[in-house]
Amino acid sequence: MKKKILVTRSSMPDLEEYIEEIRDLWDSHWLTNMGEKHNVLERELKEYLQIPNISLFSNGHMALELVIQAMGFPEGGEVITTPFTFASTTHAIVRNGLKPIFCDISEDTYTIDASKIEELITDKTCAIVPVHVYGNVCDVEKIEAIALKNNLKVIYDAAHAFGISYKGRGIGSYGDASMFSFHATKVYNTIEGGAICFRDERLGQRLNQLKNFGIEDEEHVLGVGANAKMNEFQAAMGICNLRHIETEILKRKKVYERYLENLNNVPGIILPHHQCDVKPNYAYFPVLIDNKYDINRDIVYNRLAERGIHARKYFYPLTSTYECYATNSSITKTPIALSISKQVLTLPMYADLQLEDVDIICKIIKDGVAQ
Ligand SMILES: *Cc1c(COP(=O)(O)O)cnc(C)c1O
Repeated sequence: MKKKILVTRSSMPDLEEYIEEIRDLWDSHWLTNMGEKHNVLERELKEYLQIPNISLFSNGHMALELVIQAMGFPEGGEVITTPFTFASTTHAIVRNGLKPIFCDISEDTYTIDASKIEELITDKTCAIVPVHVYGNVCDVEKIEAIALKNNLKVIYDAAHAFGISYKGRGIGSYGDASMFSFHATKVYNTIEGGAICFRDERLGQRLNQLKNFGIEDEEHVLGVGANAKMNEFQAAMGICNLRHIETEILKRKKVYERYLENLNNVPGIILPHHQCDVKPNYAYFPVLIDNKYDINRDIVYNRLAERGIHARKYFYPLTSTYECYATNSSITKTPIALSISKQVLTLPMYADLQLEDVDIICKIIKDGVAQ
């Protein structure tokens, strides 16, 4: 059988290690609702991520949706965000009855272009929801200054940014809140899972209620909550995976560097941008296939696919062009995001990817571009 290489492959501990970790659950019979594993993981993550407060969730999307709800914005409020993201970011805003206002992105980092935020602010604007795309750090300082000046909340979609620090600070400590995703496809996983890191301690109680039906105590339900609690099996997986996270990131670094060596100075291939002051996590390896070399992204994508190698057009299409949003005629134009979404290809990237396979992937790309 021809070997298949997918764009990602979940990190997992040894089976014995996981079995050892879940053994206690057969004694306690406590499977969810802020159990012991959940509490241990919360403590460990707080330390690893260098953040003051955290609340764990069943997945990253519900975490983002509920933190927006917890902020209590007025219905119909506007949220400045990026269309160059996963469906989740835009859906989380819209499902809260808020209106996404799409801002264009920076050509280097593919994150929201902070110099274009202020022109989009109106008297209805209540928040900014930027995304640390591929683990590239947003212009957190400029965004903070804009938010302070205009009295706006900042909620980062940090789904790609687990373990990253910027200027020696955990990335989740910037803004009013940040969402991390622990989905199976991310750098760090709890099978499915997610977390909110937040600045104001008072937000914690509200988040803990909203992820448990809005229940305060047996007789009082304060909010229209959902069910988004992390269960004990997820937390146990998280405890195991956290033990190995540094090794996993180091293995990713080797893969990342091998890609750089292979694709450096290939005409028509634009490599990921290096950021100063950032401790990276090597979550993705996005390249742009520049159209002017008579080859386009879709041709490269197909050539790889024919050889059993599955890259991903990530993010394409822009969320602002989804059928469910495109009818909204007031959507602002984001030409840079549009152009990048048509050129970008994220190549297979995971800790166990063999360096010889990286060479094969790069050869297919280089042969294509040279033709
Ligand atoms: C994965 C991801 C999410 C959603 O996280 P889940 O844990 O899968 O719900 C949100 N935003 C971005 C940018 C993501 O990549």
